[in-house]
Amino acid sequence: MSIPTIDLFSDTKTRPSKPMLNAMIAAEMGDEQAGEDPTTIELQERVASLLGKEAALFVPSGTMCNQIAIAVQCQPGDEIIADKTAHIINFEAGGAAVIARAMIRPLEGLRGQFSLDQARDAIRAGFRHAPSSKMISVEQTANLGGGSIWPLDILKSFQALSVEHNLVTHMDGARLLNAVVASGVSAADYAATVDTVWIDLSKGLGCPVGGVIAGSKDFIDQAWPWKQRLGGSMRQSGILAAAGLYALDHNVERLEVDHLNAKNLANRLAQIPGIKIDPMTVETNILIINVANLKVSASEISEQLLLNGVRIGAMGPDSMRAVTHLDVDEAGINRAADIFAKICS
Ligand SMILES: *Cc1c(COP(=O)(O)O)cnc(C)c1O
Repeated sequence: MSIPTIDLFSDTKTRPSKPMLNAMIAAEMGDEQAGEDPTTIELQERVASLLGKEAALFVPSGTMCNQIAIAVQCQPGDEIIADKTAHIINFEAGGAAVIARAMIRPLEGLRGQFSLDQARDAIRAGFRHAPSSKMISVEQTANLGGGSIWPLDILKSFQALSVEHNLVTHMDGARLLNAVVASGVSAADYAATVDTVWIDLSKGLGCPVGGVIAGSKDFIDQAWPWKQRLGGSMRQSGILAAAGLYALDHNVERLEVDHLNAKNLANRLAQIPGIKIDPMTVETNILIINVANLKVSASEISEQLLLNGVRIGAMGPDSMRAVTHLDVDEAGINRAADIFAKICS
């Protein structure tokens, strides 16, 4: 398949830039499984400090971060409270059921976010026949919620609720740094509301691989055997960790550009007859585009766009998702909007 010129399918589509590749080539390396890779250790310390946690662990993917957090903190039969759109429900091949043998209670949230009342109502009373509520999990930002940002106050109230009921809280921070840049709230302030949290290096940060999970020292000690068990221990991972360090230095503040591009794209698309999108709801780098009023399905529009060099995925018969990132600039966004308008007419 040829690669579309303007790929807005996901912020995973980024390729490592020349300077990032140079940083990778220059990395000091050692055997990571033996704790001897200096660049990996530096990345872990850097992320632990960014997130205000005692320790952090570099693993091959964000999915593995979620699965390790669940496996360490949930017993078989425990229940996790999450929004129905959550990545742990929809895109991890049932990992929580297979690995931790935990179940997930999907809540009917709004734009990927459930309320304090919904969370409280979902906590089981400890009845012998019921699963035990164990974890509240949030996605910052909420991916299928259109990149919406959970406000700090509600996260704090989940934390208080979880302490009251002896639960743990987990943050899937695949796009936590997008929330940080857009809201001005620090990563450590968001992370302080949860027991475990991770950031993805391979989304908006532009790295080829990797996630870094953080928590207490005790949690990370328990995360290590799970990383080993899941095949996530590496050898000369410094080459990948160097990309992460480069990204933390160079690709965080610029997320603002992706957010501006997303807003601009939303404003342009909102003017196309038949398309429904409220630019006010575009808080970060993800747009959910409703095409129900057009005469054709989302997947047909997606195909037409692709024929014209633009990739935007269908998320169902009526809805599409576009994600801005560092490999599509303002001119690319304008071209994508022009092509979208042309196809719709
Ligand atoms: C991409 C993503 C993940 C998984 O990250 P990978 O590094 O691709 O495994 C988890 N949660 C959310 C919200 C994501 O967008």
